[in-house]
Amino acid sequence: MKANPAHPPAAGLLPFREARKRVEAEAARLRPSGAEAVRLPRSQGRVLAEEVAADRDLPPFPRATRDGYAVRAADLARLPAELKVIGEIRAGGALDPSLSPLAPGCAAEIMTGAPVPAGADAVVMVEYTSRQGNQVKIERGAAAGENVVPTGSEARRGDVLLPRGTRMTPAAIAAAATAGKAEVRVHLRPRVAILPTGDELVEVAAQPGENQIRNSNSYSLAAQVEAAGGDPAQLPIAPDEREPLRRLLLEGLTADLLLVTGGVSAGKHDLVEEVLSELGAEFLFTGALIQPGRPVVFGRAPRRTGAEATPFFGLPGNPVSTMVCFELFARPVLDALSGARPAPLQFVKARLKSEVKTRTGLTRFLPAVLSGEFEEAEVEMVRWQGSGDVAAAARANCYLVVPPEAERLAAGEMVSILMR
Ligand code: AMP
Ligand code: MG
Repeated sequence: MKANPAHPPAAGLLPFREARKRVEAEAARLRPSGAEAVRLPRSQGRVLAEEVAADRDLPPFPRATRDGYAVRAADLARLPAELKVIGEIRAGGALDPSLSPLAPGCAAEIMTGAPVPAGADAVVMVEYTSRQGNQVKIERGAAAGENVVPTGSEARRGDVLLPRGTRMTPAAIAAAATAGKAEVRVHLRPRVAILPTGDELVEVAAQPGENQIRNSNSYSLAAQVEAAGGDPAQLPIAPDEREPLRRLLLEGLTADLLLVTGGVSAGKHDLVEEVLSELGAEFLFTGALIQPGRPVVFGRAPRRTGAEATPFFGLPGNPVSTMVCFELFARPVLDALSGARPAPLQFVKARLKSEVKTRTGLTRFLPAVLSGEFEEAEVEMVRWQGSGDVAAAARANCYLVVPPEAERLAAGEMVSILMR
């Protein structure tokens, strides 16, 4: 097969932020491929294909938020106040009609989560009271509304609690449960094909020859894809040869997203871009000014002639590069294919433990350890041998982000980190 004259693709090497923006712009065009109903407890991490609305006011009755006494706040103008206890209101129980409306000079014993009777406008905590028979002595005043959440103040019946496109979290699951949704409609998980390339690779179960290495990228990527809500499919290792590579790329392009690892550097046997070009790929970038991960490639290619294009990433083969590039670039595409608005990259700040010397021009994402609790967060780079060092990556729990203009980061400086 003859090389495509368009190779190398002229899409260019972009600064990190531009590359990220290009991914986000492309992601905005992508849609999930369908929806299904899942039982609520199975919905964690899935993305809503329907909106969830309140089926009643929240709270449905004026809710007491403390154990104590429901009172008229005006009765506590003079302290201590002595009120007559005329009954008890329990959470979930029927409200005794004789308690409602609460008459002046009276109090009703009330439990957290119980309905505050009409007439009462505050709940005094039991801690500020003493009881003698059916009299209660109250030591502290209460403002109207204190310890009472009014009916419908959290949401009105019909209000949207969770818009379509919400990624289900434990809190979103609680909101759906409150709205009576035993099942929710969610978008299908995007299918993500993972294609490792390289003549030196063998599968995990195989005994590597002296100069061979085990394929680890397929496994880290599958784990990342799952964590991001996708459905990974591992393809067999592609050798650095056109024909088998082409066949496997075509197979990978039938998925919703294709992640290729290796074969995108400048080496003589790095054929991925060339073969993708021959398959009609368009390249949106062919490198980013980052380290690790500089040769990363992003584009779209038709799954067969004339068909709609599938987005793909060519991820540099070094294991840390592959992992970093997934976090930086593949996640927004997965979000979009899952029906969610792409989550912004969020950096947190921590104090740098020891100096980092760097070189300018590249945004760097260095495996690091974040430690310390509360306001004492400290971050330190792990010792590593570069982007092939999986052992160092496994010791890290975050990436230290070095901006392209920095020459050195001093100990004690507040620095940005990317959690993973
Ligand atoms: P490449 O991007 O193909 O030039 O590969 C860069 C480095 O990553 C080489 O040292 C490869 O052996 C290594 N590598 C490539 N693919 C994998 C993989 N699937 N698992 C582990 N290491 C890999
Ligand atoms: Mg290779």
